[in-house]
Amino acid sequence: MVSRRNRRPEAEKMAKVKDTLENFKICMQVNCSSCPSFLKGKGEGLYCARGKNECEIERKGCDCPECSVWLESGLSGMYYCAQGSAS
Ligand code: SF4
Ligand code: SF4
Repeated sequence: MVSRRNRRPEAEKMAKVKDTLENFKICMQVNCSSCPSFLKGKGEGLYCARGKNECEIERKGCDCPECSVWLESGLSGMYYCAQGSAS
């Protein structure tokens, strides 16, 4: 008997972090906004949910591991502004 339970990781493709105002505020309070790699002035942030910055990012450090969104979402990556959202 062949199991039809293909466990394709469709769910894993969904963003791990919700694009909410609350998460954006957390990101902007002390995390992305104080990061040396952050490009200010475009109203961006919450890259882990919204995806990468359209500009090229110079990687000078990433504050994501200090962020409560990162911790509470069980993330392990960094530089979402350059690489795209957490999945
Ligand atoms: S995703 Fe990381 S590297 Fe990019 S701006 Fe935010 S804290 Fe900085
Ligand atoms: S994990 Fe990084 S991109 Fe996501 S909210 Fe925190 S600082 Fe911003």
